[in-house]
Amino acid sequence: MSKEAMRAEAERLIKEAMEKKAVAVKRVDTRIEAKCGKCGAPNKITAAPGKTRVEYTCKECGHKQRAL
Ligand SMILES: [Zn+2]
Repeated sequence: MSKEAMRAEAERLIKEAMEKKAVAVKRVDTRIEAKCGKCGAPNKITAAPGKTRVEYTCKECGHKQRAL
């Protein structure tokens, strides 16, 4: 294997590792604090990665709604 090929291989591995890390970060769920539209109680909800709208049920009054 030539020096150039070895360097290219090393760079490829670093790039792959960085991409994996980026994906791992994106997979972390987002926690949103939403106020119930019916009773105003604060609800802590967990949003799946990539989702901006989350359906949840209020823990106080059971009202089903969507949080942004
Ligand atoms: Zn409520």
